[in-house]
Amino acid sequence: MIGAGTMGNGIAHVFAQSGFSVSLIDVSAQQLEKALATIGKNFDRQVAKGSVTEEVKSEALGRITTHTTIADGVSDAELVVEAATENVDLKLKIFRDIDAAAPQGCLLATNTSSISITRIAAVTGRPESVIGMHFMNPVPVMKLVEIINGYATKKEVTDTIVDLSRKLGKVPCVVNDYPGFIANRILMPMINEAIYSLFEGVAGVAEIDTVMKLGMAHPMGPLQLADFIGLDVCLSILQVLHEGFGNPKYAPCPLLVNMVMAKKLGVKSGEGFYTYTAGSKELVVSAGFSR
Ligand code: NAD
Repeated sequence: MIGAGTMGNGIAHVFAQSGFSVSLIDVSAQQLEKALATIGKNFDRQVAKGSVTEEVKSEALGRITTHTTIADGVSDAELVVEAATENVDLKLKIFRDIDAAAPQGCLLATNTSSISITRIAAVTGRPESVIGMHFMNPVPVMKLVEIINGYATKKEVTDTIVDLSRKLGKVPCVVNDYPGFIANRILMPMINEAIYSLFEGVAGVAEIDTVMKLGMAHPMGPLQLADFIGLDVCLSILQVLHEGFGNPKYAPCPLLVNMVMAKKLGVKSGEGFYTYTAGSKELVVSAGFSR
């Protein structure tokens, strides 16, 4: 497991819980320590709810080892899942390094939200064994794994990853490699349209989110969801869609661009469309945004 951030610790958690040995790799030793602590806390919550036993928890934690270099961590891997920072140059470098260090026959998966699987696969000597394995956040809770076939991905590789996802207790959905895949191709234009509705003064933050929550039975309104995802992340995915399709319908709303430039990134910066208590997801008050 490459990357021990939000997604990496969750993915390591579900693999270890399902009986797989996990080498968790990050450039930051501090991040590895934090990830182990988070995994422990999340297991404690599962034990408290009665969904796993203390024994399952301690066995799972015992299956996770940590490493700060790719070469150390992947030398005997059967599958590498990458969930490092969403940056194309970084991912291309990581995949060159994995390809050089992982055994022949080892499958390579990326959890990227938006970067082309085909492009990542092309920097390796085994493009037929590279696939997208897009988990949802929080990984131990969310059932879906969006599986993305690159242009060169072999059918046997897809079949293996589908079976594996089921063994992890997830529901796999196989899609092809076009910008945004399915999840973000549909979600991000909805969020962008909600931001345009605010920008054009059609309604306020609370009204837009309430209409979508109560009218469409969404658990969270699109503006609050954007705050949770991170407005910088939403902007970069919309840019991938806009560039990838060359269609103006995906152009990010100027209000979103301004908010990101002003470092109003949502929950992680304490303010987006709503204001949050420092370091928590607790909503303080509607930002009452106006044009
Ligand atoms: P994050 O910033 O929480 O974690 C990224 C981790 O990668 C950090 O710990 C960082 O130290 C590490 N890293 C950076 N360079 C590295 C390298 N060369 N080798 C090893 N580790 C390295 O990010 P995240 O939210 O966990 O996202 C990770 C990936 O998952 C991204 O591709 C993102 O698009 C995707 N994703 C995120 C979400 C989400 O809701 N956060 C959902 C689905 C997919």
